Amino acid sequence: MYVVKEGCPGCGNCRHVCPTGAITQDGIGVKIDEKCIDCGICVHYCPVRLIEAGPVPGQAVTTQEAPPRRKTVRNEPERGEE
Ligand code: SF4
Ligand code: SF4
Repeated sequence: MYVVKEGCPGCGNCRHVCPTGAITQDGIGVKIDEKCIDCGICVHYCPVRLIEAGPVPGQAVTTQEAPPRRKTVRNEPERGEE
């Protein structure tokens, strides 16, 4: 399940793109609930990069230590197959 780090200004981008409605308003910011299917779409729509993959069950990692699931390359078009 993906998680939202602290400091979300609540722009709403992620809520609008989430296909399962897993992201809901939580005060100023948003939170992700168990409806998350780990599609990763929301990550690409967060302007302040606050969404990341949460800890994998069974692994002792914290939210801050969990590596991102996908690398994003700025200012370059999406690559197809190499
Ligand atoms: S990873 Fe996908 S299902 Fe999970 S909160 Fe983000 S957009 Fe929604
Ligand atoms: S896209 Fe990012 S900044 Fe906007 S509401 Fe979602 S987590 Fe917050």
